[in-house]
Amino acid sequence: MKTIIEPFRIKSVEPIYMSSREERESYIKDAHYNLFALPSQRVLIDLLTDSGTSGMSAAQWAGIMIGDESYAGSPSYLRFEKAVRHLMPFRYIIPTHQGRAAERILFGVAVKKGQYVLNNTHFDTTRANIESLGAFAVDLVIDEGLDPSSMHPFKGDMNTEKLTAFIADKGAENIPLCMITITNNSGGGQPVSLENIRAVSKICKKHHIPFFIDACRFAENAWFIKMREDGYKNTPVSDIVREIFSLADGCTMSAKKDGIANMGGWLALNNPAWEEQCRNILILTEGFPTYGGLSGRDLEAIAQGLEEVVQDDYLHYRIASTEYVGRHLHEAGVPVLLPVGGHAVYLDARAFLPHIPSLHYPGQSLAVALYIEGGIRGCEIGTVMFGRQPNGTEQPGKMDLVRLAIPRRVYTQSHMDYVVEVIIDVFGKRDSLQGMKIIEEPPSLRHFTARFDWRTEDHSKLEKNTAVG
Ligand SMILES: *Cc1c(COP(=O)(O)O)cnc(C)c1O
Repeated sequence: MKTIIEPFRIKSVEPIYMSSREERESYIKDAHYNLFALPSQRVLIDLLTDSGTSGMSAAQWAGIMIGDESYAGSPSYLRFEKAVRHLMPFRYIIPTHQGRAAERILFGVAVKKGQYVLNNTHFDTTRANIESLGAFAVDLVIDEGLDPSSMHPFKGDMNTEKLTAFIADKGAENIPLCMITITNNSGGGQPVSLENIRAVSKICKKHHIPFFIDACRFAENAWFIKMREDGYKNTPVSDIVREIFSLADGCTMSAKKDGIANMGGWLALNNPAWEEQCRNILILTEGFPTYGGLSGRDLEAIAQGLEEVVQDDYLHYRIASTEYVGRHLHEAGVPVLLPVGGHAVYLDARAFLPHIPSLHYPGQSLAVALYIEGGIRGCEIGTVMFGRQPNGTEQPGKMDLVRLAIPRRVYTQSHMDYVVEVIIDVFGKRDSLQGMKIIEEPPSLRHFTARFDWRTEDHSKLEKNTAVG
């Protein structure tokens, strides 16, 4: 098979500021070994997130120039609304400044204290917005979705038996919303099948529970359906997308993901009573309904991004490039979560560094090593993020992972080859990596601002084995 090339050429470039290993050692020390504290210009390949980091097309930048900034009734809003509705045929489309604003508005209208919101796996902001109302966010992903060794093609599917049992147990009247997240971000970017979406939709309908989709990576999910689900090989992606959303009562969306935009989001729904209440909150906290906290130019960029994100050539390249990184690492024996998801590759730090106990944060140690060795910035998802218990004690997280999220249309294959080389290099000297300790931490969401240090004062072994670069 021939190389799958990036389906774009580059007209405008941004510099990567090169640094030496020695410089990076001092940069990360200055940042107290927290990658969130690094100035981005000290990073060579930034895989912290795929959110808002996409490369926009020439047509999107052209849209930026023709954005109409009228307070009310901007033609840019009409273009945005049309582009959204073309893929997601809902009656009302409410722009917001990003995905979490759509969540806050929807839950503020729909969810009451003590109720249960169901999902395959709630994303952090989704869970936090539900819990801040005193309601409960319940995850009902299939068992395979929690098993790092399962090769199930749709590890994001919801367990429909558990769903039915949960509704019977708690009563439909206590479940104001059921959601499904495509792809399942917190579950490793794993897709959900159309068969499962259809089944969940049917169960919700039967019990009169509104069914919403957390749509952030809808196009990547549709591509997986086209590739893996029987009967969709010849279906255009945009038809698959419309079929998904025709099964739902609404959706929340972050345009920073599959909108290929740097900012934005929306809430879409069919229920007129909810729409009226949502619109009132929008006006109170986000802005007038034809801009909702966004500029006209942002709305143009999103409208154009939605046309581009469902193109076969783009999705083929997008999913192949993530898979490319995962496959090369796997072939070199590096422990990665399989199958590789849509937007990120997850390194299994616990298997990578078996000599470092979870409470010594193997994920953080690995993330720091990737930065020092190669200037790569990933994100620990493990005991640093989830280990602290409400009573102040520490417990190992379910897994210790390092997520390498791949921005859309930003890095080339040679950047990705470099990433693979650096990781294999670090894997070769994994025995010399040390555990870490937390020196200082805030009361909540500690991973963003905690300060770390090495467990032993002497990490010279790591330096000794290392080539310059
Ligand atoms: C990013 C994300 C959100 C929140 O969107 P923001 O634009 O970051 O507020 C919600 N759900 C999922 C699955 C996401 O990936």
